[in-house]
Amino acid sequence: MKLYVLDNGIQRLDKSFLVAGCTNATLDNPNPATIWQDIPIHSFLVETDAGQVVFDTACSPYFASKWPEFILNQSPYIASEEQVFTSRLQQLNVKPEEVKYVVMSHLHVDHAGNLGLFRGAEIFVNDAELTTTLRQYALGEGLNVHTPLDIETFLAAKLHWRPVLAEESEVTIAPGVTVVNLGSGHSWGMLAMRVDLPKSGSFLMVADALYMRDNLGPPIQVPGIIHDSLGFFRTAKFIDAYAKKHNATILFGHDIEQFRTLKLAPNAYYD
Ligand SMILES: [Zn+2]
Repeated sequence: MKLYVLDNGIQRLDKSFLVAGCTNATLDNPNPATIWQDIPIHSFLVETDAGQVVFDTACSPYFASKWPEFILNQSPYIASEEQVFTSRLQQLNVKPEEVKYVVMSHLHVDHAGNLGLFRGAEIFVNDAELTTTLRQYALGEGLNVHTPLDIETFLAAKLHWRPVLAEESEVTIAPGVTVVNLGSGHSWGMLAMRVDLPKSGSFLMVADALYMRDNLGPPIQVPGIIHDSLGFFRTAKFIDAYAKKHNATILFGHDIEQFRTLKLAPNAYYD
């Protein structure tokens, strides 16, 4: 079994979106500078005896012309030709139509941008994330960073969805690959994925349930972009305990410091 980390470029945004209040003013420092932060956009490929598993799909290649203007202005996406998601798959000789499982942490613009490629896969997504995304799309409101571009692309692809219901806390999809249902928090419904590797040990991809190590604390620090703040706290505590229980390394959603320490595809992997 091999775990590949796919470097899909960066987004750049005000750090207060990631850690609320990180540049709060004080009497000593009444006008602190804001921090314009680079964050990694990454995705994962796991090769198992039971087939290939993809976790998240980075940003759409059509972002420049089809993302809402506020996203391009708030958090511009920067990626080279070799970094875009489809190029990374090609570098690993992976054909999207042959991937067996895709696990979506959630359906935000920086995670669901290439989901429509996986027509032959079983797509795991939190049930509330899927139903609420489709509801808001139908109503034409409240989508924010769930974009019509991504939704229309994956609806047109007629994907094989596997909603993870609220009562399902874990789903094993292949030996050593476990979907973990985190519930609401960062978005309407979040999934994590645990990968247990013989040599490298266990990893827990939590995506934006914890953007970066700063969010885990202690104390737990909420981000500036959040759907359910109490859910975020509950999830952060759960992840901390779960990772300790399984002796798993937490892979944060957008932590540039951690990202710089990871082995990156196509030249390196965890096994
Ligand atoms: Zn994200």
